Amino acid sequence: MNKRHMTNLGWDDQADVVVVGGGGAGLRAGLAAATKGAKTIVLEKTGDPGGKTAMSIGIMTASGTSVQKAAGVRDSHARHLADVQAMAKEAGAKIDIGSTKFMMRVCSAELENLIGLGVKFSGPHPEGPHGTPRMHVVQPDCRHLVDVLVRRCAKKRVDIRLNTPGAELILDHKGQVAGVRADSTGGPRFVAAGAVVLAAGDYSANQAMVETVAPKLKLAMPLRDFATGDGHRMAMRIGARAQNMGRVNLPQLRFMDWPYVEPSPGLVGAGARLVTAKGARIKTKLAGSILMPGFEKNWEEIFIVIDAGCAAKLAMASDDVGPGRDGWARSGKPFIGTAPQVGYAYLEDCRAWDWHFEAKSMAAAARHIGCKPADLAASLAKNTSGPFHVLGPTRRVIANSGGGIATNEKTNVLAEDDRIIKGLYGAGVNARLISFMGGHGYALAWAMASGNIAGAGAAGHANRQL
Ligand SMILES: Cc1cc2nc3c(=O)[nH]c(=O)nc-3n(C[C@H](O)[C@H](O)[C@H](O)COP(=O)(O)OP(=O)(O)OC[C@H]3O[C@@H](n4cnc5c(N)ncnc54)[C@H](O)[C@@H]3O)c2cc1C
Repeated sequence: MNKRHMTNLGWDDQADVVVVGGGGAGLRAGLAAATKGAKTIVLEKTGDPGGKTAMSIGIMTASGTSVQKAAGVRDSHARHLADVQAMAKEAGAKIDIGSTKFMMRVCSAELENLIGLGVKFSGPHPEGPHGTPRMHVVQPDCRHLVDVLVRRCAKKRVDIRLNTPGAELILDHKGQVAGVRADSTGGPRFVAAGAVVLAAGDYSANQAMVETVAPKLKLAMPLRDFATGDGHRMAMRIGARAQNMGRVNLPQLRFMDWPYVEPSPGLVGAGARLVTAKGARIKTKLAGSILMPGFEKNWEEIFIVIDAGCAAKLAMASDDVGPGRDGWARSGKPFIGTAPQVGYAYLEDCRAWDWHFEAKSMAAAARHIGCKPADLAASLAKNTSGPFHVLGPTRRVIANSGGGIATNEKTNVLAEDDRIIKGLYGAGVNARLISFMGGHGYALAWAMASGNIAGAGAAGHANRQL
């Protein structure tokens, strides 16, 4: 390829494929397009590639994989489908069997593709209510996954332009996507493209968009401010259909430093206490839960305090038999949260992370939190004893939004009337096929799988335009 697609519109630049967004899906799309021989530019709004993908825990749920086979776990898409159907029934959700099977097939195939690119996985770990261990976790973490993709892109001469947000799609006289306006620091640049892939991530930081699509949601803080739904906006502006836009994940507690773990609800049931930075206890309305109720008015930092009695009730590595981290599932004891590398973090893993502090005394715990010892003492159980593990701060955040641009299985973006918008592809959060898979671990797998499909499809489309 490499010929100019449009030469008469005063373009500043040209490529066969332009990808908007340099997170996981965008980098994977860039790599797939370049592997097909397309001259590829990836526009990334921030100074670092990776997006939410680089922050991700790294869980990919897949069936019939080589990782399962190596661990002696027998599994198939048919078993996986039966589990998803049971979960859908339990949740009262309807599923489309064809697209559910498609999702399983492409996500599992993509996991093998990533292994081929040099990405390693731990597991399979158990993941209720799946009947078979299917949780695969990127090793050592998703920052490494992003590094692998960036290195592979560099080898294929993908031009990754940092601090260069895509702003608008440009159509030719036939209404076909012909390029992108990019707003670099030097001013707008018009980039001609044989095809465009939108991979600009979610819209949880776009307050106006969230309020429009989910007016009842009480806003928490977004986890990252780059997630302003630019891909959604650019696509909708030229008539693309958005779907499930009201699905903004409920605000949840998350640690605000690496790794961005969501504390497990079981901790409260085991006796962990939640306190504000002033040491005041926060009681949840749901017994044994760290879910949203009880937190609506609390915007401040929240710490989780685990005393010796609570620590003894938590799962630990000696509970594991394998394959994967299964001690918590075997024993029924709570874990800290799903986490990079290990799948499920136990207290002993937390020592490696900045948000864990072990205090011999209540006074030391209070000093770490920044509150008066007497206030902390009033918030903990009467017969409490150390050592105390202080986890935090956490904040109440919206980690992701769940709606996307309607796409078909080839990731072509669809218009309101279901027509394919020629030359436009979606990937990751910007591409949505189905609404229910049950459990977690599909967003990352889909970001990778859809990026691969979109990049290859965009390269093919660009080639046909020459
Ligand atoms: C803390 C956390 C943990 C998670 N853990 C898991 C997990 O374990 N398993 C799982 O399945 N899912 C997980 N998810 C969700 C999953 O990581 C994401 O859904 C997925 O990685 C999104 O990939 P993406 O490429 O679509 O978006 P992103 O990776 O967010 O990439 C979007 C990129 O686009 C850029 N961008 C935005 N606007 C523009 C613009 N106008 N022009 C150019 N660039 C732009 C952004 O800066 C960003 O780099 C997690 C999410 C979070 C936040």
